Amino acid sequence: MPTGTFTVPTSETRQFFDITHQVQKAVTASGIHDGICHVYNPHTTAGLTINEGADPAVQADILAALEKIVPPNLPYQHREGNSPAHVMASLVGSSVTVFIESGRLRLGTWQKIFFCEFDGPRSRKVFWRIA
Ligand code: ZN
Repeated sequence: MPTGTFTVPTSETRQFFDITHQVQKAVTASGIHDGICHVYNPHTTAGLTINEGADPAVQADILAALEKIVPPNLPYQHREGNSPAHVMASLVGSSVTVFIESGRLRLGTWQKIFFCEFDGPRSRKVFWRIA
């Protein structure tokens, strides 16, 4: 079962980073034409999601909404001081699964796969497995 890792060099505190190309590269290299691609984020202050990639305003709107949903100054107990990033990571989730058809990720027309940075900038890892 083909499996691997790639690096995501985020550059902002909070950021949607389009990883669709890197995931498609893994699918192409695997030689698998029909199957399932699992993508997993092993970090506690980052997530993965699939959403619109055509208009960057959508990514900005999602980040702005998360900033409103997650209070910056609750009496958080976690001493590292980055609890809002942990909460955002749990809200977004840590994995996505996409069908592979004819060697291509079967995403919707406007969909992209995003690595969601909530406590950057950092060098992040993404794990993938194709079955
Ligand atoms: Zn923390």
